[in-house]
Amino acid sequence: MTTSSVKEQLAELLEESREYAKYSRELGIETVTFSELVEPAAAEIETAPVVNAPWLSRAAAVPATTTPASTRSQTTSPKTEPGDLLFNDLLPAEPALPPANETLHDIWLDIGDCTRCGLCAGRMQVVNTNGNAQARLMFVGEAPGADEDAQGKPFVGRAGQLLTKMIEAMGMKREDVIIGNVNRCRPPGNRQPTLEEAAICRPFLFREISVIKPEVIVVMGNTALRNLLEVREGITRVRGRFQDFRGIKVMPTFHPAYLLRDPSKKRETWEDLQKVMEYLDNNGNT
Ligand code: URA
Repeated sequence: MTTSSVKEQLAELLEESREYAKYSRELGIETVTFSELVEPAAAEIETAPVVNAPWLSRAAAVPATTTPASTRSQTTSPKTEPGDLLFNDLLPAEPALPPANETLHDIWLDIGDCTRCGLCAGRMQVVNTNGNAQARLMFVGEAPGADEDAQGKPFVGRAGQLLTKMIEAMGMKREDVIIGNVNRCRPPGNRQPTLEEAAICRPFLFREISVIKPEVIVVMGNTALRNLLEVREGITRVRGRFQDFRGIKVMPTFHPAYLLRDPSKKRETWEDLQKVMEYLDNNGNT
């Protein structure tokens, strides 16, 4: 890792942390973020000249050893090592999706009038994945908001209208794609679903993905990113680089609700969507 990329990553981490703090405050959640902890030093970091800081590089953080690699015993689990980041796969690829022996309708019947987590108490209705079951392209967001809860369809509010425009800008119609969420019930006050709520709901999304087998999934925002790919990195850092979900290409990008708050991020989002269009064009209708 070069020192300038260390500086870039620090700047991204700060930006991400500020976004998170802003979003949390909007939701009325008290948090202390990385940026607040280091904010006094942040200006310095952002304007500091590039310095040689090998101690910040992940590769350099691997403890030096005099034992030859071949004779070293493996004492830690083979999780993400620095080298795993080299080819954009943050985690080792999971096995490809098995053939599904159910339909979307079977899954929705199974979900039913779900009471598997506490979100059922505050919702009006379950909001299932919606769209073209043969779609080549799937979009995944976080959880329904008030409009979605009222209408029983994902992404029909302001963020949804922006998503429709994004899809149309890609030369498609909303009916061509399929759209879902990690959670199917509206969290109170539109807060982020908890880890437990997400863990209870996402297996249904995974089953739907097995049935639909889209060629590309666009994950929008941190909740979708972290629940599909189980990465710790935030969307600001991972966006724009294809990832893998059990043999399916995944493009992480910003959530349309975030774009409504910060329209300057539309440009990067459009770049990400153009990569998706290019991939779909080159992949042809197989
Ligand atoms: N935001 C989401 O993440 N999903 C929706 O369905 C609507 C807004």
